[in-house]
Amino acid sequence: MGPKKQRIRPIIERLAAEHADAAIALRFRSPLELLVSVMLSAQTTDVNVNRVTQPLFEKYRKPEDYLAVPQEELEREIFATGFYRQKAKALRGTMRMLLEELVRLPGVARKTANVVAAELGEPQGIVVDTHVRRLSQRLGLTRHDDPVKIEGDLVRLVPRADWGRFPHLLIWHGRRVCDARRPRCEDCVVSDLCPSSRV
Ligand code: SF4
Repeated sequence: MGPKKQRIRPIIERLAAEHADAAIALRFRSPLELLVSVMLSAQTTDVNVNRVTQPLFEKYRKPEDYLAVPQEELEREIFATGFYRQKAKALRGTMRMLLEELVRLPGVARKTANVVAAELGEPQGIVVDTHVRRLSQRLGLTRHDDPVKIEGDLVRLVPRADWGRFPHLLIWHGRRVCDARRPRCEDCVVSDLCPSSRV
């Protein structure tokens, strides 16, 4: 099977060929819209978020706009994404911070910051969600369970140019092939590179 340093290239290349459409499904036209979409996407689907953001982004175009209405109004408009109270609060807090500190985004969750940076073409790290965690472990790319430590292993291993697409590849592979409960190893393009393969 070979060491992970040698397996990582073919793993990335084969998954990229298999999941050419792997990309963020959120719809956005600006970094601000992307930031809002990613924040709204916690605990819900991208489709749901897109449905909510379509009218939302017509109304809210600048950070100031999110602060110009009562929080309850924003809560109603993002209701369908769930956790609307926390999300409305977080959105307004972030907009306030954006207005105060335009350059950096301290306090924006690490994952959100990574997603946004990656979509802007400047990945600062590798986004580790539940799929990325499971697949990294199954593929023998990490022994850790903690997302921050997994990210540490992955950034050492994955070429920087692939930091943006790598999580998308694992996420799509996780959804389509390497299911949490029943991985379909017999249909997996990297089964010969995977220590957890059952075939
Ligand atoms: S071989 Fe099986 S466990 Fe390994 S990545 Fe493929 S589907 Fe997942």
